[in-house]
Amino acid sequence: MLLIIYKSFHIWLKLDKNFNISLYITFLNLKVVKMKSKIMLVKPPIHADAVFDPIRTTQPLGLWYIGSYLKEKGHDVTILDTVMEGMDNKTMLTSETDYETFSEQKHLDLESLTAEEFVDKYSPHSSGEVSREIVRVGLSDGEILERIKEEDPEYVGISVFATCNHTPSIELAKLIKENFPDIKIIAGGSHATDMAEKILRDSDSSIDFCVKGDGQYVLEEIVQGLNPETGVAYLDNGKYVDKGEFRRIKMDEFSMLDSSLLENIVLPMPATHTQDTNGRKYVDVMFSRGCKKRCEYCVAGSKKYGFDPLSLDKVEDQLIELKEAGYEELVLQDDDLLRDKEHFFGVLDLIQKHKLNWQDNGGIAIEDLDEEVIDKIIDNGLCNSLYVPFNPRNYKVNQAAGYATSHHHKKIERLKRLRESGIYVYTSGIFGTDVQTKEDVNSEIETYKNIIREGYVDQALVFSVSHLPSTKNHELFGDDIINPDDFLGYSIFVPHAKTGTMSVKDVEVAVVKANQEYNGIQKHARDWGSSFPK
Ligand code: SF4
Repeated sequence: MLLIIYKSFHIWLKLDKNFNISLYITFLNLKVVKMKSKIMLVKPPIHADAVFDPIRTTQPLGLWYIGSYLKEKGHDVTILDTVMEGMDNKTMLTSETDYETFSEQKHLDLESLTAEEFVDKYSPHSSGEVSREIVRVGLSDGEILERIKEEDPEYVGISVFATCNHTPSIELAKLIKENFPDIKIIAGGSHATDMAEKILRDSDSSIDFCVKGDGQYVLEEIVQGLNPETGVAYLDNGKYVDKGEFRRIKMDEFSMLDSSLLENIVLPMPATHTQDTNGRKYVDVMFSRGCKKRCEYCVAGSKKYGFDPLSLDKVEDQLIELKEAGYEELVLQDDDLLRDKEHFFGVLDLIQKHKLNWQDNGGIAIEDLDEEVIDKIIDNGLCNSLYVPFNPRNYKVNQAAGYATSHHHKKIERLKRLRESGIYVYTSGIFGTDVQTKEDVNSEIETYKNIIREGYVDQALVFSVSHLPSTKNHELFGDDIINPDDFLGYSIFVPHAKTGTMSVKDVEVAVVKANQEYNGIQKHARDWGSSFPK
């Protein structure tokens, strides 16, 4: 269906010598708008470092929001999650060994070798070049092409959310363009926003547009056949054209997530990206965006987004929709869940009203866990687990004896109340920051072990600093990255940079050692958060 609109026009009057008046209208910028397009939104396969990365996935939340909006606007939308649908298809790209054999040997070595010996055997940085063992996870190229052929879309939108997805996203775009040259391919997501020119050039023009910033309105214009005035970048005869980033959209402007778009997706059970839901069908969701903190390694922290809650009436509509679709447990991914206590309490009341289980995976600031919040969470009775990241360096708890004297003692003590009420509480530590020395690393590992042993948390995840493009860290320490084009190194689990006092192999040793030592005492360690499960 086509609709002709007049973007702007001039009206003017003319008076002749007989005092007759004539009306003139001049139409400018005549545009033809396509009202219904066929769009396929695709999450590309994962490439992961087979040594350091766990294999994790969940619903493609960004694609889901955009797909729901475009569908509401009358377009024909499908979502293909090549990872969820092809989770069992794991192929080593760099060796003849199959992934299961490689992984089994890695875990045997983790138990029998020292951290230094393990790194000597597996480090991708041993040869001077970065040479990683890479595993690909997802539907095969043939299966993806078959699905595209069946759907026959005019537009394919590819999610390039994370920097470590750079290579498989480019490969997917090239594959589609080679086989279906008439399909317009659009990339979007955080990495596509921050590295649009590199993505467009690396794809050899297979990608027609990169959407920059929140994408729903920009993508809508593209599939209508329009040329957006902002929020898009493309190559024009090899010349890079960048129209800037689209404004941050308010959560209330998003459409309600439409469950029918994901009805074919089979969820991994147990979940691979968060705590086990004990068989309950789970869904990632956000009821607010924005974080008050300014972590220098985080895109949200570096871009200084303000806090933006979803109105409670819309929260309730969404809960009803998800419940009707059979979802039983919400995995909250809010950047700063406790930022607005009143809003959080309102959300909890609605979750209770609609009898949904929930867990937090986005992270809760420990300083916001006051007695009132803890009482509310415990009284709610439906919380499965909470992720409470904190840095022991800031909390002066580097020795167990230090708890009693620290003024943060009470805050950490509160975590015990949550655990005693049956909630699984986990935290994380990050290695490879510029302020850490090797001695600090050893001290922090001991601290986390003490926190686990003494019952403050059930588990500590092990992360490695990644200097993501567009973060403050990248600006400050980007030169420490061993190879900026080593895209798998930007995963939060994968060391890829030296620091002022540590080589990249020192950081790898810290990561391996922390995993080895935590695995020895984490009674409920699951194999989702750590690449080195017990
Ligand atoms: S607390 Fe989390 S979301 Fe907030 S800035 Fe830090 S890493 Fe980012």
